[in-house]
Amino acid sequence: MSSVKINKDVPMAASLPKRIERLNDLAYNLWWAWNPEANNLFKQIDPIIWDSVSHNPIEMLKRTSRAVFNQKANDKEFVAAYDGVISEFDAYMNRTDTWFHTRYPEIKNKTISYFSFEFGLHESIPAYAGGLGILAGDHLKEASDMGLPLAAIGFIYNEGYFVQKITEDGWQETSNFHLDFSSMPMIPLTDEKGRSIVISVSLPGRDIYARAWMIQVGRVPLYLLDTSIEENSPYDRQLTAKLYTSDLETRISQEILLGIGGVRLLRRLGYDPTVWHMNEGHAAFLALERCREYVKAGKTFAEAAEFVRKGNVFTTHTPVPAGNDKFPVWLIEKYFNQYWAELGLDRDQFIDLAREASPYGDQFTMPILALKLSERSNGVSELHGEVSRAMWHFLWPEKRVDEVPITSITNGVHTFSWLSRRMGVLFDKYLGKDWRDNPDDPEVWAKIDDIPNDELWAVKRHQKRKLARFVNDRARAQWLAGSIHPIQTLAAGVLLDSDALTIGFARRFPTYKRGNLILRDYERLLRLINDIHCPIQIIFSGKAHPADEPGKLIVQQIYRAIKDHRMGGRMVFVENYDMDIARHLVQGVDVWMNTPRRPNEASGTSGMKAAMNGGLNFSILDGWWHEGYNGHNGWAIGTDAAFDSNERQDEVDALSLYETLEDKVIPMYYENRDENGIPQGWMTMVKNAIRTLSPEFSMRRMVAEYADRMYIPSIQEQ
Ligand SMILES: *Cc1c(COP(=O)(O)O)cnc(C)c1O
Repeated sequence: MSSVKINKDVPMAASLPKRIERLNDLAYNLWWAWNPEANNLFKQIDPIIWDSVSHNPIEMLKRTSRAVFNQKANDKEFVAAYDGVISEFDAYMNRTDTWFHTRYPEIKNKTISYFSFEFGLHESIPAYAGGLGILAGDHLKEASDMGLPLAAIGFIYNEGYFVQKITEDGWQETSNFHLDFSSMPMIPLTDEKGRSIVISVSLPGRDIYARAWMIQVGRVPLYLLDTSIEENSPYDRQLTAKLYTSDLETRISQEILLGIGGVRLLRRLGYDPTVWHMNEGHAAFLALERCREYVKAGKTFAEAAEFVRKGNVFTTHTPVPAGNDKFPVWLIEKYFNQYWAELGLDRDQFIDLAREASPYGDQFTMPILALKLSERSNGVSELHGEVSRAMWHFLWPEKRVDEVPITSITNGVHTFSWLSRRMGVLFDKYLGKDWRDNPDDPEVWAKIDDIPNDELWAVKRHQKRKLARFVNDRARAQWLAGSIHPIQTLAAGVLLDSDALTIGFARRFPTYKRGNLILRDYERLLRLINDIHCPIQIIFSGKAHPADEPGKLIVQQIYRAIKDHRMGGRMVFVENYDMDIARHLVQGVDVWMNTPRRPNEASGTSGMKAAMNGGLNFSILDGWWHEGYNGHNGWAIGTDAAFDSNERQDEVDALSLYETLEDKVIPMYYENRDENGIPQGWMTMVKNAIRTLSPEFSMRRMVAEYADRMYIPSIQEQ
C-alpha cells in the first residue's frame, strides 16, 4: 500500500441513542445479510417497515423515529440481542485464525483483485441480473469468511437492472426506478481534503470521470464506479445507469471503464494487487491497462504481456460462441486508436490480441483477449470445462483438445446466505459445534443421518408454509395496489396449497433454459396438476432480458397456462424475481426443476441452494447437476446423449420429464408415508441430497479451489 490517505468514513444513516449507536456500523457492512441474528435486529425495530423497504437497513434506520430508537435502547431484550450481535460482528472482523491465515501463513501483504460487471449481494442492492452476479456476490462473502485478502471492483447502476411487471396477457413490461444512493450501504471515498476520489478514462473525443464508492462485504471491500457526476456530460452520466444495455457503444464504454478504470482506481487507492481475477470477459481490458503500465515503464509489449499473464486469472461462464462478449473491429478502432500506440502496438497487432473471424467480418472477442492474457483460465463446471476447451481449441491449434489450457472449478453457493435460519438451527443441533466453520467438509455433513425424520420434515413444512404466505402476501399487495385484473391475483398465487408437492422453477428466461418445456404435452400436465389424491403445483419466477423477444414469449406462454382455469390455480408466477424471492423459493419448495438445453447451462447454482435446504433437484444432466447427481440424491431428466436437432432434444427431454414425474417423483412424495404422515423414501433422498451436495457445492469448497489452484500458484510464480 502506498501512503495516500483515503477517507472511508461511514456516513450516519440516523441519529441513534449512544447505547445502540453501532446499528449504523452494522447497516454499513453486509455481514448482517448472512447472519440471521443481525438481520433480526433490524427486523425487530419494525417488521412492517422492514418488509416495505426491501430489507434495507439504512432505509430502515432513516424511517425510524428517534422515539422508537429511544424505546429500543431501553428494551432489555433488544439491547441484549444487540450486544450479542455486536460482539459477534467485532469478533468476526478481528478474527486472525482464518482459513487463509492458517493455510497460507507465509503469504502476507498480497492483494487479490476481483472484477465483475455485476454483484448480487442482497435484494436491496440491485446491481445484478442473474447467476453471474450472485456468484460474484457469494464469492466476496466467502472470501470474507475465509480471510482472503480480496478487493473487488464493479459498478453501481443507479437504475439497476429493471423492474418486471406482467400484463394481464402475460407480456413482460419493464419499468425503471432511480436508486437513491444515500439509502445504499455505500461509503463515499474521499481524499484528505474531503474531495471525492475520481478516476478517468478516455473515450472517443473526451475523457470521462467516475467517482468511487465502497461497499463493505464483511472484511472484503467492493469498490464501485459511478459516472453520474457533474464532471461528465449528461450522456456520459448515463453510462453506469443500467446493467446490460443492448447498445454496443454503451457496452464497450462500460467495459473500458471497468477494466481500465478499475485498474486506475485500485492504483489511486494505493493497491498493488498480485492477482487479477476477471469474472467473465467483460473485465478483460484490465489486462491491457496493466500492459500499458509496464510499457510506460520501458518494457516492450511482449515483455509486459508475459509478466501480466502470470497474475491474471480468467473465469469464463459462456458455453456457446454466440453468448460471448464481442465487438466489431470498427468499434475497437474507434475506441482504441490512441490506446494501441501507448502499448507500442499498431492496429493489426492490437486487433490480433482478440481477433475472431466470423461471417460478418472480424470480431474482437473479449474472452479471447482474456484467455490470451491469462496464465490461468477456467470454466465453471466439469462439463463446461470440456465444452470450453472444445470451443476455444482453435486458439491452440498445435494442442490436443484436452490440452487446451482451460481447467474447471465448479461453482458453489455461500451456505449462510442461502440456508434458512430454521434449517441452520437444526444443523447446529446435529452436525456438531463447528460445522459453521467447515461447510465444505463431507464428514460434517455425514451426521445428517442423525437427524430424526420428523424434525427435518417439520422444518421443511415450516419453510413451505412460509413460502406460501410470502407468495400470498405479494399477491394481496398487488391486488390492493389496484392496478391489476383479478385473474392476475390468481396467477400470483392466492390458491397455493401448502400441502401439495411443490415444484419451483425460477431463473432468467433465455430460450435455452426452456421454461416452457413442461408445457409441451399440455393435457398430460393438466392431469398431473389436478390429480385429486396427488396434486402438484409449480411456482415460476424470472425475468427475460428486455431485448429478448423469444424469452418474453416463453414467459407469456407460461403465464397464459397459469391463467387457464383448468390448472386450478396450482401454477403460479411470482413477478420481479430477485434474491428475496429466490431465498423463499429455494428454502420452501420440495422440488427444484431445471430444464436447460444441454450443454448450454455452464453451471447453474440455484439448485445447490435448494439442495442444502432439503429440496430435491429434478434436472437435465447439465452444468453442476452432471457432477452432483449420483442416482440417489434427486432425479435426472434425459440422459447424457447429444442431439443434432433442438426439436428432437426437446421432445426426448419432455418425455423423460413427464415419465420421471409420474413414475418417480410424485409417488415418492405421496406414498410410503409412516404413521405421522412422513414420506420415508422421500426423507432418505432429502438426506442424501443434503449430505452429498452441501459440502461439494459450497462456496467454501469453490473459493478454496480458486485459492489453491489459481491465486496461490499465481502469487508464488511472481
Ligand atoms: C441463484 C440465483 C440465480 C442463478 O440461478 P441459476 O440456477 O444459475 O439460473 C439467479 N437469480 C437469482 C436471484 C438467484 O438467487
